Amino acid sequence: MNADALLEMDDVRVQYGRFLALDGFALRLHAGELLGLIGPNGAGKTTTLRAASGLQPVSTGTIRIMGYSVFEHPVEVGRHLGFTPDTPALYDGLTVRQFLDFIGRCYDLPRSLRSERGDYWLEQLWLVDKRDAKIGALSRGMKQRLAVARTLLSDPNVILLDEPAAGLDPAGRVQFRKLLASLRDSGKAIIVSSHILADLAEYCTHIGIMEHGRLIRCGSVAEVSGAESHEHCLYRIVLAHRVGDTAQRIANIEGIGEPQLDGDTITLSFERDRAQAADLLRRLLAAGLPVAEFRALEPDLEEAYLRSGIKQVD
Ligand code: ATP
Repeated sequence: MNADALLEMDDVRVQYGRFLALDGFALRLHAGELLGLIGPNGAGKTTTLRAASGLQPVSTGTIRIMGYSVFEHPVEVGRHLGFTPDTPALYDGLTVRQFLDFIGRCYDLPRSLRSERGDYWLEQLWLVDKRDAKIGALSRGMKQRLAVARTLLSDPNVILLDEPAAGLDPAGRVQFRKLLASLRDSGKAIIVSSHILADLAEYCTHIGIMEHGRLIRCGSVAEVSGAESHEHCLYRIVLAHRVGDTAQRIANIEGIGEPQLDGDTITLSFERDRAQAADLLRRLLAAGLPVAEFRALEPDLEEAYLRSGIKQVD
C-alpha cells in the first residue's frame, strides 16, 4: 500500500447482472491532486465514484480512503470522504440554512462550527442570499451548489464530485473553477467527473479517460492532452509577412525542437518557462523575423479527446 495515497482503488470490478460496468479499475490519488474523469456516456464514471464512496457494491477489488477500506470501515471513511452525486438528495421542505445545520449535526459538529462553516460555504458557493429560501424553490444550479456546500461542510480530505458543473451558469462555472483550484491547493484529493473538458484543463492536475468500464488513459493534463511535456510547450508565431529563408534563420536558435512552417506561421517546441519564452521572442526578432503574433499554445483536452478515437455509446 502506498502510505501517501489518500484514495486507492485496485482491480475494482462492478457488475450489473452480467454486464461488467467497471473492469479492473485501479487508481492512486494523493493530496493536492485533482483528477478529471472523462469519457462518453455510459463509460463508468458514475459507477467509479459510487464505488469509491462505498455506495456501490463491487464484485472484486479493494478501495481505501485514507488507508481505511470503504467496505470494512465505513464510519472512518465517512469522516474523511465527501461525495456529491449527479442527482443529489436534498430536502425540499427545509431552508438552505436548516439543511446545512442538519448535515452539520449528522457530523457532530458543535453549533458554533456548524454556523461558521455553513456561512463560509454559502458565501463560497454564492448562496448567501438564499440562506432562508426553501430548497424546493431553488433553481437546478443553486441546488447543485448547495449539494457541493453540503459535501464540503464536513471538511473531507477526499472529495468526489459527479458532474458538479453541469447546471452552473457561466459566472458560476468561473467561481466553481476557482473553488476547486483552492481546494486542490489546500491538499485535498479530488475527483471530478465532467463533460466540460475546456474547464477541466484549467484546474485538474490529472485526467483519466474512461471507456467501457476501463481507465484507458491517465496522466497529467499535459500528458493526456498531448502537450510536449511539463518543461516544453508549443509556440505559434505568425509573421507580418512571409520570409523566404525562415528555416535557416531559426535553425541557429538553440533549444528549438522540430519547427513546422506553414506560409507565414511557425509552430515550434520550446521551453515553457516565461523567461525562456521572452528570450525566444528576442532571438526571433534578432534573426530578422517580423513577428506579428507570438503565443504559447495551451494543452487542448477537447482536441486530444476527439483525436483519441473514443466512440460515443451506440
Ligand atoms: P454518463 O456520462 O452518461 O453519466 P457514466 O460514465 O457515468 O455515464 P455509468 O452511469 O457509470 O456511466 O454507467 C456505466 C454503465 O453501467 C452504463 O452502461 C449503464 O447503463 C450501466 N449501469 C449503470 N447503473 C446501472 C444499474 N443500476 N443497473 C444496470 N446497469 C447500470
